[in-house]
Amino acid sequence: MKRLAQECGFELAGIAAAQPHPDFARYEAWVGAGMAGEMRYLADHRAEMRRDPRSLLPGARSIICVGKLYFRGANDSVISRYAQGRDYHDVLRERLEALAQNVSPDHAYKICVDTAPLLERSYARQAGLGWIGKNTCLINEPLGSWFFLGEIITTLEIAPDHPPPDRCGTCSRCVEACPTQALTNGTLDARLCISYLNIELRGPIPEPLRIHMGENVFGCDICQDVCPWNSRAPETEDFAPMFDASASLQELAALSQEQFRETFRNTPVTRAKYHGFLRNVATAMGSAGDLRFIEPLQKLAIHPDPLVAGHAQWALRKIASETGVSTR
Ligand code: SF4
Repeated sequence: MKRLAQECGFELAGIAAAQPHPDFARYEAWVGAGMAGEMRYLADHRAEMRRDPRSLLPGARSIICVGKLYFRGANDSVISRYAQGRDYHDVLRERLEALAQNVSPDHAYKICVDTAPLLERSYARQAGLGWIGKNTCLINEPLGSWFFLGEIITTLEIAPDHPPPDRCGTCSRCVEACPTQALTNGTLDARLCISYLNIELRGPIPEPLRIHMGENVFGCDICQDVCPWNSRAPETEDFAPMFDASASLQELAALSQEQFRETFRNTPVTRAKYHGFLRNVATAMGSAGDLRFIEPLQKLAIHPDPLVAGHAQWALRKIASETGVSTR
């Protein structure tokens, strides 16, 4: 099966039993503590479905878990690595479909990529793909954590693999590096996570957090960048950038709605929506506090969308108070 998975382009593959996972209790407590923020898809009726993978496929026996590397080397973009290439949902789904056909001509199966109510990382760990680090990413020794995860839940009975040991040890680099202190004791408070704030959150970004967001316009790679297990991560030819990833904040601030649609078509960036994206650009400009951003921020400050205008006005106030330069 692992050879077949490699032939379909997956660097990691393993098997977990399609049974309830003990991590579900932790997940329930995490949701109960409100740490999922406004991500309703994690907390509504779909939360309960995560209790047992057989709720997704009656008669399921096994879960084929795979990992697809997306690391392409150094990145100085304001857009997170994972979002620069073709939408991974489509890429992984195509390859998982091919794998499901190759594994057996005769089984019922369900393909999951990120959006299904399944404890993906927990089953990936169970399947031997890696351990769950203090940054809450699945980490493989020796390949690191720059992976998309996918699964085939199947009625086939396949011998399960075993989880590897946790190798974070006394390291806590990711915990210390997180600008918003979103990581504690191996738990991520999504309400503080920069990737949540600039992708999932639809309304205003809480003001006390804006200054910590840095130049992260879409997503954030900090807790993976600092992880020593990623220092020798191999690079892939897949997920080549679909747009100019070196575009500056000024260039991004000037995108029209049509240009935004064109530029980021078929990439994960569209999830932020145009006004959310401009909100993020304004926040990044304010967080960086550079005088060069005054002019584009003045344009955004009179944007017809109050979300965009409000964040740009905040950014101008911040730059003015830090530098003493009039931003009116
Ligand atoms: Fe674990 Fe250190 Fe990597 Fe964090 S940075 S996930 S603590 S090894």
